[in-house]
Amino acid sequence: MARPIQASFDLAALKNNFAVARRHAGTAAIMAVIKANAYGHGLLRVARALADADGFALLELDDAVRLRDAGYRQRILLLEGFFSAAELPVIVHHEFTIMVHSREQLQLLKTLRTDKKIDVFLKFNTGMNRLGFAPADSAGLIEEVKALSCVGKIVLTTHFSDAEGVSGIDWQMREFENRVARPGYARSLANSAALLRFPEARGDWVRPGIMLYGASPLEDASAQKLGLTSVMTLKSAIISIQQLKPGDTVGYGSLFSADRNMRIGVVACGYADGYTRHAYNGVPVLVEGVRVPMAGRVSMDMLCVDLTNVPHAAVGSPVVLWGEGLPVEEVAAAAGTVSYELLCAIARRVPVAESD
Ligand SMILES: *Cc1c(COP(=O)(O)O)cnc(C)c1O
Repeated sequence: MARPIQASFDLAALKNNFAVARRHAGTAAIMAVIKANAYGHGLLRVARALADADGFALLELDDAVRLRDAGYRQRILLLEGFFSAAELPVIVHHEFTIMVHSREQLQLLKTLRTDKKIDVFLKFNTGMNRLGFAPADSAGLIEEVKALSCVGKIVLTTHFSDAEGVSGIDWQMREFENRVARPGYARSLANSAALLRFPEARGDWVRPGIMLYGASPLEDASAQKLGLTSVMTLKSAIISIQQLKPGDTVGYGSLFSADRNMRIGVVACGYADGYTRHAYNGVPVLVEGVRVPMAGRVSMDMLCVDLTNVPHAAVGSPVVLWGEGLPVEEVAAAAGTVSYELLCAIARRVPVAESD
């Protein structure tokens, strides 16, 4: 038998989650965010399931080319635009849309000679302080970009830093509405959390990512409550069982110590499979459908669980690391990270399966 780990992808769930995004988006167009190999779910697999999306957004140029080569004709937005002049001919040839966020990019666009037009999402920094132009400069900047012969449509864009949190988006929306927005220009604002929480931020192009994969971005609403279904289930099995006596320890660093006679299950999944090494004692794992706590540290190829609550577990017992029956965001929270990091870390060596 092969090593039992597998990532299985539920494409019906992906379509369901897209329908949820569609309902929240109203009349706004949906730019499905598929950066980082579609958050670890497989670029072309996800594009196929989301072929009805009005556009795709990602930042890897080679993946954008793969999408075009696979026949996708909708808008493809490069979320960080371009990094050097050498990319511009590729962008023009494949009719990609680019995020423009810096003076350096503008300088390069000014030197571009082409008969075709590139559509631009012009990015403004309304508080995230990562990418984007200052809102106070918007009037002159929009005129400057509009005047470039290679620029087609302009969509005014920003990104929220706290759409899922207590600060919300009002403060950034105010900045955008007062200093950036203007009649005649389309707008793109919302990520998943903003799309789910703030109808006023829908604009013309919404950019949902994480919700499409079935994870809730909101602390106070589970995926289930939002109508989202997990797309990726990371599964494996128990490959060994150890009987511990009081005082025995488990794994590197002896981080877990038995206080009684107990059974420990060894699961074929480690950090080389993409499971985070920051998880240890107590992080939830499903064995035979029962939630059990991790015991000790995650090692490269294995992790261990306390089988006290599943006395019938044996070598071969099925294990779910996250996905069906165990929301990835719960595992992430217990491990001190976010669902995004777990999903997009899935390693190449993990065999995949998909179902419709
Ligand atoms: C990744 C990303 C998104 C999607 O965010 P989610 O929280 O996954 O919905 C939207 N916009 C930009 C600019 C991004 O980089």
